[in-house]
Amino acid sequence: MRRIYETSAYQTPQSCWWWSTTSPQALRPLQGPQRTEVAIIGGGFTGMNAALALAKAGVQTCVLDAQHPGWGASGRNGGFCCLGGAKATDASLTKRFGTDQCAQWHQAERAAVDHVAGLLADYKIDADTHSDGETLLAHSPRAMAQIRATAKGLGQAYQTDLHVFGQDALRQLGLNGRFHGGMTLPVGFALNPAKYHAGVLAAAQTKGVIVYEQTPATAITRDGAKWRVSTPSGTVHADKVILATNGYSSEDLPDWLRARYLPVQSSIIVTRPLSEQDQARQGWTSLQMCYDTRILLHYFRLMPDGRFLFGMRGGLRATPRSETALASKIRAHFHHMFPAWRDVKITHHWSGLLCLMRSLTPFCGAVPDHPGLYAAMGYHGNGVAMGSYLGACVADHVLGRVPQGPFPAFLRQPPKRFPLGSLRRALLAPAYAAAAVKDR
Ligand SMILES: Cc1cc2nc3c(=O)[nH]c(=O)nc-3n(C[C@H](O)[C@H](O)[C@H](O)COP(=O)(O)OP(=O)(O)OC[C@H]3O[C@@H](n4cnc5c(N)ncnc54)[C@H](O)[C@@H]3O)c2cc1C
Repeated sequence: MRRIYETSAYQTPQSCWWWSTTSPQALRPLQGPQRTEVAIIGGGFTGMNAALALAKAGVQTCVLDAQHPGWGASGRNGGFCCLGGAKATDASLTKRFGTDQCAQWHQAERAAVDHVAGLLADYKIDADTHSDGETLLAHSPRAMAQIRATAKGLGQAYQTDLHVFGQDALRQLGLNGRFHGGMTLPVGFALNPAKYHAGVLAAAQTKGVIVYEQTPATAITRDGAKWRVSTPSGTVHADKVILATNGYSSEDLPDWLRARYLPVQSSIIVTRPLSEQDQARQGWTSLQMCYDTRILLHYFRLMPDGRFLFGMRGGLRATPRSETALASKIRAHFHHMFPAWRDVKITHHWSGLLCLMRSLTPFCGAVPDHPGLYAAMGYHGNGVAMGSYLGACVADHVLGRVPQGPFPAFLRQPPKRFPLGSLRRALLAPAYAAAAVKDR
C-alpha cells in the first residue's frame, strides 16, 4: 500500500472515546483462496452499507478490512449525521451541472440522513442519538449577516423551515459561547458512530456477509473474467469489487486511484462528563449538534452523558511533533470558544483521515476501463450520512440498477487527479492559510 501521509496517520489512535463505548467483535483474517460474487475493500460506513444492500439483494458478498471494520473514519468521527458530502457551493453545482442536478443533490443529502435513520429503526440500533437537526453558529457579526441573507434560500433548497436567532437568544437556547447568533436547520441528528457502525456490521453479517479483519488488500488484478484481490494471508476471486477505502486509500490500489483523492486530517477532543453546574457556568445546556461559520470550521456537541465533544481540522503532517502541536492548538480553540471550561479535564483526543476530491463532489460509480470495479468515496468530512447512502447506491450500481433514491448524475463522473501527485497535500497549506485569513 502506497499512502501519502506519515506512518502514524495510519496507526491506531490511543484514545478514541467511541471505542470505549463498544466491544469490537472478534473477526478472523482471510485464510487461503476464497470465491465470492462481490468483494468490498474497506469496512467503514461505505463498505458495510454496500455489503448490507448487496446481501439484502441475495448477492454473495465479503468485506476485507486492513485493520478492523470501523477502524477508519467511520469509527472515530464526530457522529454528526447531517446534510453535506460536497464542498462545492450550490452556485458552482448549478453552473457545472444545472439546476435540476443541484436540486437532486439536495434531495440526496436529505435521503442520506433518512437512510441512516431507517437503518437505526429497522435494525433496532441504539446509537445514543440526540439533537433536532443541526445548528450553525456565527463566529463574527459578518457571518451572522450572511446567515440572515442566505437562510431563506437554504430553507427553500432543503424544503424546510429554518430557525434564525440572534446573539441575545444564545443563553436561552443553552448555546452560549463566543458566537453572534445562528441558525438551526431541522434535518439530521447526532449519534455514536461506533455503535451505529457495529449495528450495521451485525445486520450485514446476519444477512450472510463474511467480514475479514487484519486483511489488507495488497493488489487488485484482473484474472480472466474475474478480479483477484490479493492479501498477505489469502486471495479472493470476485466477479465484482467495490473500493470503499476513502481517506485510507492507497495510491496503487488500484493504480487508477493515484492522486484522485486527498486525505485530510480532522481531530477531536472529548471532556469528562460536565455536571449541571459546569454546564450552567458556560451557559451551554443544549444537546443540539453545532458547527461554526469558519471555513476551517469547528464542530461540537454536548452528549447525552454530559461529555462535550469538540472537533476541528487536524495538522498538515502526522509526525509526533505535529501531533503535540495540534493537541495544544485544539485545546486553545476549545478554551477560547468555551472559556468557562478551561479547567475541565479532557479525557480523550484522537485524529483521523477524511477525503476530499478535486471536483469537490463525491464519487459513486463504475471505475472507467476496469469492468466490474466500482468505488464510492470523497464525502468532504460529511460521510456519516452520505457515505452510508452512497454505500447503498454503489451496491445499486453493482446490481445494474438505478439507485433507489435521489442520485444526481454528476456523482458518477470519474474523479480527476490532483496536481502534485503524492505531494498533493502541500496544496492544503496555502488553502488553510487563506482560509485562516478569511475566518478572522
Ligand atoms: C475526526 C473525524 C471527524 C469526522 N466527523 C464527521 C461527522 O461528524 N459527520 C460526518 O458526516 N462525517 C464526519 N467525518 C467523515 C466521515 O467519518 C467519513 O466520511 C466516513 O466515515 C467515511 O467512511 P468510509 O467507509 O468511506 O471510510 P473509512 O471509515 O475511513 O473506512 C475505510 C476503511 O478502509 C480500510 N482500508 C484501507 N485500505 C485498505 C486495504 N488496502 N485493504 C483493506 N482495507 C483497507 C481501512 O482500514 C478503513 O477501515 C469525520 C471524519 C474524521 C476523520
